[in-house]
Amino acid sequence: MNSDNGFFGKYGGKYVAEVLRRPLDELDAALEKALHDKKFMDELHTIQKDYIGRATPLLFAPRATEILGGGQIYIKLEGLANTGAHKINNAIGQALLAKYMGKTRIIAETGAGQHGVATAAACAKLGLDCTVYMGEVDVRRQQPNVAAMEMYGAKVCPVTSGSRTLKDAVNEAMRDWAANFENTHYVLGSALGPAPFPDMVRIFQSVIGNEVKEECEKRGVKIGAMVACVGGGSNSIGFFSPFIDEKSPRLIGAEAGGIGPNVGENASRMTGNASREGIVQGYKSRFLLDEDGQSLPTRSISAGLDYMGIGPQLAELGTSGRIEFMNILDKEALEAVSFFAKNEGVLFALESAHAGAAAMKIAKQVPKDQAVVINMSGRGDKDIFITSPVFRPKEWKAFLESELERLNEQKDIHNAKLMGGDK
Ligand SMILES: *Cc1c(COP(=O)(O)O)cnc(C)c1O
Repeated sequence: MNSDNGFFGKYGGKYVAEVLRRPLDELDAALEKALHDKKFMDELHTIQKDYIGRATPLLFAPRATEILGGGQIYIKLEGLANTGAHKINNAIGQALLAKYMGKTRIIAETGAGQHGVATAAACAKLGLDCTVYMGEVDVRRQQPNVAAMEMYGAKVCPVTSGSRTLKDAVNEAMRDWAANFENTHYVLGSALGPAPFPDMVRIFQSVIGNEVKEECEKRGVKIGAMVACVGGGSNSIGFFSPFIDEKSPRLIGAEAGGIGPNVGENASRMTGNASREGIVQGYKSRFLLDEDGQSLPTRSISAGLDYMGIGPQLAELGTSGRIEFMNILDKEALEAVSFFAKNEGVLFALESAHAGAAAMKIAKQVPKDQAVVINMSGRGDKDIFITSPVFRPKEWKAFLESELERLNEQKDIHNAKLMGGDK
């Protein structure tokens, strides 16, 4: 399951400038050492249990099972992890490793802000200095997450180069790391980037799949299929990891089909028309690229799946056929949010709802005495600004207008008082 010297088949690798070789090699060695260090592993397990709240529950979904009429539906409630999603598993693992390496400063990239929030929280927990690079466009669009990062004491640096989005934030983080690796670790947010990041992120996220495996064995549940959404690929590869080298269960990855099959309408790196092999930001994989190798625009209702690249191990396992990929439209993801909220009392994040929608499609193909396990990578509270305009547009608009009015009417003195100021 581990890479062969950084490669998964022909994908992966370490395509970086000379200055980044040293920090990557150093990281490789430190990871290897930490995984065999009882003190590190004990400390990691304690934080996973007491701070993240592991193990997260595995919920049987009886009404969904009955309505869908096939395999037994189970939901891994990863959204109950502290900070609301699986990203904290990786952020805590890397931040702790950085501490063992003697680093005092953490940097991270973030797009929608979810990885930035997880990293900021992990740094606050472990007493590390934290700087998050975020495209200026994303900073403007994702204020709730910027506010959360600052609440955890992180510094958010708006990136003004290029398209001022995630890609540019990654470039800026790489530049910072190359210049400061003596005291700084770069916490990359998904199972991609140059080696050893894809292996390392999978290892820290494999806690999800290991818990599912153990719990199913304990309850005597036979798994027929496992379904996860795939952005960069961290929740899916962690969820699938204990089963990759076995023939069963079926492993299904749900990609963002957005609003259609044309360029700019989706983020379908495995199933889409514009899927191409390439080397981008340090690794070889499948990307949405034009014929000249330039990155193409992407679209998804879920910010976390809206990315032009996919982790190299997923690209390899998709090509070999071990992982099946499904294309899920925005509309289908929204329907899945409603379905699981109304029938099971579980509010999926829009990303995770892509997995829910894929499970709804394949449930009937799985025998009734076997399970379909869905990874709910995150909970949906964060999506209220996206789901409300869809489900109740008039009421939401009136709410925002009244909030704005309230804000404008407020006297400055009022806010100063709340902050303990005396002006
Ligand atoms: C970021 C995110 C994803 C996508 O990232 P992966 O690395 O593919 O897991 C999925 N779900 C949630 C809730 C996220 O925040």
